[in-house]
Amino acid sequence: LTPHKRKPDWIRVKAPISQGYMQTKALMRRLNLATVCEEAACPNIGECWTKKHATVMILGDTCTRACAFCNVKTGMPRPVDPLEPEHVATAAAELGLEHIVVTSVDRDDLPDGGASQFVKVIEALRRETPSTTIEILTPDFRNKSEAAVEAIVAARPDVYNHNLETVPRLYPTIRPGARYYASLRLLESVKRHDPSIFTKSGVMVGLGEQRLEVHQVMDDMRSADVDFLTMGQYLQPTPRHAKVEEFVTPQAFSAYAAIARAKGFLLVAASPLTRSSYHAGDDFEKMRAA
Ligand code: SF4
Ligand code: SF4
Repeated sequence: LTPHKRKPDWIRVKAPISQGYMQTKALMRRLNLATVCEEAACPNIGECWTKKHATVMILGDTCTRACAFCNVKTGMPRPVDPLEPEHVATAAAELGLEHIVVTSVDRDDLPDGGASQFVKVIEALRRETPSTTIEILTPDFRNKSEAAVEAIVAARPDVYNHNLETVPRLYPTIRPGARYYASLRLLESVKRHDPSIFTKSGVMVGLGEQRLEVHQVMDDMRSADVDFLTMGQYLQPTPRHAKVEEFVTPQAFSAYAAIARAKGFLLVAASPLTRSSYHAGDDFEKMRAA
């Protein structure tokens, strides 16, 4: 089979024009918050923001790394904003979020990699919006990961997400600043510190990975006791970024999902437009109710 190279019909997204979209944008600017929805040029922004679902990106909008798939800008970040935790809590309250996803840029420049800011954000959310469930999506914290995970887990988020992003063979080109097994160990250590916290991870497909390599990543995740899996199509944000090698068909995503469920993941989201935070709250609620 010839892989699809041109953007196919199933990658269709709605234009981001709605009252909810405008209100979400205005709120984020008023509170001086960055969102991964905007910074990563997420294709779902029209749909998510219309429903007032946004994923906050803490620790600023500038990353110390430069992954080949990511649209977030690279450079020397600004100092950490001490008001950010309160602002995240205010945003969650004003948006009426039942579930919030909080992520960050990598901050290899900070002594704790930014872990203490995650802790402060979780504490502010628990204080201001106690019924909101909290999902955090963290960087790998490089060589500070053991201490970072310990501190964050002690603050008790509901879901701890860290994405493996791609298969190990493609790390040198796609995620050059990271190590596959270090990311896997991070996920494992969350469970070791607190088995009651759900762990989650995700991969992008369409970067040139083989089907069996993806199955192996699923096995690796399960051996680290990862509970939830997300899989989505990689889309090239600009011509400077890694090329799309293949548009994976919706049928192939369904096949991946069936295999993932058979491997024991509690929650599997796999479709061309799935992103880590896409429908994260709805899926989490459904799983808890089941
Ligand atoms: Fe934002 Fe996630 Fe929705 Fe994308 S899928 S717009 S990152 S909430
Ligand atoms: Fe983007 Fe995260 Fe890589 Fe930074 S570390 S460039 S935010 S994917």
